Amino acid sequence: MTARRRLRVRVHGVVQGVGFRPFVYTSAAALGLSGSVRNDTSGAIVEVEGDPAEIDHFLARLRDRPPPLAVIESIETHDIPTVGGTGFTIADTSRSDGGRTLASPDVAMCADCAAEQRDPSNRRYRHAFVNCTNCGPRFTIISALPYDRASTTMASFAMCAECAREYADPADRRFHAQPVCCPNCGPALRYRDGDGGITDGEDALLRARRLLRDGGILAIKGIGGYHLACDANDERAVAELRRRKRRGDKPFAVMVPDLTAACAIAEVDDSSARLLCSPQRPIVLVPRRREARTADAVAPRNPDLGVMLAYTPLHMLLFGLPGDDAGPAVLVMTSGNLGGEPICFTDDDALERLSHLADGWLMHDRDILVPCDDSVVRVVCVGGADNQTESLELPIRRSRGYAPLPIALPVSVPPTMAVGADLKNTMAVADGKYAWLSQHIGDMDDLATVSAFDAAQRHLQQLTAVEPEVLVADAHPLYRSTAWAHRNAAGRPVRTVQHHHAHIAAVMAEHGMDGSQQVLGFAFDGTGYGSDAAVWGGEVLLANYKGYQRLAQLSYVPLAGGDISVLRPYRMALAHLWAAGIEWEADLPPVAACPADEQRVLRQQLETGLGCVPTSSMGRLFDAVSALTGVRQVVAYEAQAAIELEGLARGVDGGATTYTFDIDRSGNPALIDPTPVIHAVLHDHRAGVPTAVIGARFHCAVADLVVRLACEDRDASQTVALSGGVFQNALLLHLTLKQLQTKGFHVITHRRVPPNDGGIALGQLLVGNCG
Ligand SMILES: [Zn+2]
Ligand SMILES: [Zn+2]
Ligand SMILES: [Zn+2]
Repeated sequence: MTARRRLRVRVHGVVQGVGFRPFVYTSAAALGLSGSVRNDTSGAIVEVEGDPAEIDHFLARLRDRPPPLAVIESIETHDIPTVGGTGFTIADTSRSDGGRTLASPDVAMCADCAAEQRDPSNRRYRHAFVNCTNCGPRFTIISALPYDRASTTMASFAMCAECAREYADPADRRFHAQPVCCPNCGPALRYRDGDGGITDGEDALLRARRLLRDGGILAIKGIGGYHLACDANDERAVAELRRRKRRGDKPFAVMVPDLTAACAIAEVDDSSARLLCSPQRPIVLVPRRREARTADAVAPRNPDLGVMLAYTPLHMLLFGLPGDDAGPAVLVMTSGNLGGEPICFTDDDALERLSHLADGWLMHDRDILVPCDDSVVRVVCVGGADNQTESLELPIRRSRGYAPLPIALPVSVPPTMAVGADLKNTMAVADGKYAWLSQHIGDMDDLATVSAFDAAQRHLQQLTAVEPEVLVADAHPLYRSTAWAHRNAAGRPVRTVQHHHAHIAAVMAEHGMDGSQQVLGFAFDGTGYGSDAAVWGGEVLLANYKGYQRLAQLSYVPLAGGDISVLRPYRMALAHLWAAGIEWEADLPPVAACPADEQRVLRQQLETGLGCVPTSSMGRLFDAVSALTGVRQVVAYEAQAAIELEGLARGVDGGATTYTFDIDRSGNPALIDPTPVIHAVLHDHRAGVPTAVIGARFHCAVADLVVRLACEDRDASQTVALSGGVFQNALLLHLTLKQLQTKGFHVITHRRVPPNDGGIALGQLLVGNCG
């Protein structure tokens, strides 16, 4: 008989609040091992004793088949003296030593809970708050670690005897599920109409569904805040929501009850389907089906639809279970706020700030501790080998369902906070080889967002226990995020990082590069403060974390009047025509769109440089081409002109004609001159070539440009990094990747953080510590 063995196993990672201890318990029991499992602040500690071969099996299970929501970062084992015994126990949470646990993100309702909600014989039939160790709110209800009910917003709900029994039973799937509750002891639903009339319980749901069916606008409390909902097939209701939200043409996301309903309104491929059904349940951008009844006003002139599946038990009830009166089959679900403001997440705030936006409120009394917007992801088809298509998940907004999962860093850093940039702000903290990015905070253009930043930052620090010794900010002297860092430095160093260097560092970090090699970084985006105080955005940087060399840039054109030229692409088109020495002929769409007075002032500005900043922005060049081809002259949301141009060009063959940028290598950096491309666009436009074909040729020209520059600088690096908001363009990313791979480059693109400024904090963490 072999000698018994006892092991202490330390498991680091996301193992609290994800059913890890019951899993350990059942695994050990099945293998006849004795011992115990407990949480501590760095994860979980397991002791197992028994037959050495069974212990090996046990360890293999830990590694290979952990619960679906667990993220195991490491497993350390030590032999310790045997103590005998036969039972296996789950010890209570202890706060023994240092180290760090990782909080779980919020998780969509699981299949088991959904089945209970539909089962008339189950005690949680029709329960709006059903959850278990595999699902439910986490990040948005936890105030501190370790993860115990007392430190969540469920603390005020005393468990009934039956829930308490499930919670205490290691064999139950609700063992230590902190938000566990039932209709007898959990939160309650309430509907409030526009006049303040109150309806409770099931009738609240009926009223809410009726409001939606009658074309009204409902404020509904979700996981990370309030949404505004209306019937997505009702053109009038959607237009009214758009008017009240002062939303312009910015697309709304829609919610459907299941995948079948998603496929009815959009073209959902396998990868998108997997994402839609994942526990994160993000909004997935998918091509819309023209024949679907979805109102045009949901996403005017946009080729895609942002679709998500119902992710809370309350959403499922709102759509209706079998036997309920039918409500709308597709709902607009947009964040509960006025355009630009942070999302409402407290009941008082929702009643006040949404009073002119909503006709009724579907609320409940489980508090949301921190706001967290829905995440947005798109799938980009990339060329695989031998006609195999491969696809790539591209995060556009990393928030609910993902925050605060850590991102492993390739190099160790001291405790650091990076404050991100001013658009699509996301901040981050790091310590050692872990970085935690906050949820999406928003554009730092008003006080409300700055205070949302404060709150998000405090919460993230509580959950991670990182005490930053260094702060890192964007080099832009006027960014509010940078000012925040200086204001809150309290004697700590504030290091600043060039915007596009941070973009490239972010994609390097995601791919585990330790910085010993340089990459050819293409940072194409709308804006970013350059080291010469110009507005950069069409940059080719030879970079590692320590520094960068600007190998090439898009030639400067004057950006006249700052933001006004961002909102009016016709002005960028006129600036590019002026820079290319082309007359402003009245037949050109941007010339026709620009009032005569404005033309006069603009010409004067361009000629004198008064009120102009030089810009090398690739985003602005897309705007200019969109205006030149008559696609869009004025935008209501960021990148609208480029998105509509991409929408037209998708799936269109540009034919044999190609547009080519000039590259002037006489200076340093090399200058990329778009003049020949502008000429070619005008020539085709005047010759009556369809706009979609011109758009396709322009996208190819930008992809060709990247490939040409990469080939010319191949000696410097074989690795090409693509980042910046312009690479959210699925067509451009697809074309660029395919050609670079054909030429044998190793190409790295974003998979975990967005290519836009929502990913910049990750790059700041590394550059700020390695520079
Ligand atoms: Zn569940
Ligand atoms: Zn209960
Ligand atoms: Zn940027």
